[in-house]
Amino acid sequence: MKITYSKNTACQFCGSTESIRKHGKSKIGIQRFWCLSCNKTYQRNYVYKTYDSYMQAIIKNLLSKGLKSDGIAKALALPSGRVDKIIFSLDLNKK
Ligand SMILES: [Zn+2]
Repeated sequence: MKITYSKNTACQFCGSTESIRKHGKSKIGIQRFWCLSCNKTYQRNYVYKTYDSYMQAIIKNLLSKGLKSDGIAKALALPSGRVDKIIFSLDLNKK
């Protein structure tokens, strides 16, 4: 299977879409990419999903690891009110 990435994953530094490789994940589970063209790594944000649903996925993952909302807020450097809101929206999705 050929692995292709959409142009959304273009390198944030040089714009290359040809030389992007996956490069593990950050400690909060964000996919990292490595650009072979300019030899830099970066995290992919705002791709495929809206920012909120992207955060929902991350927060869901952290919740499943037993973190509480204040711990998640700290890990993601978000205001706890924002994290609470996203957790609340996760609860709504369950119904
Ligand atoms: Zn690059």
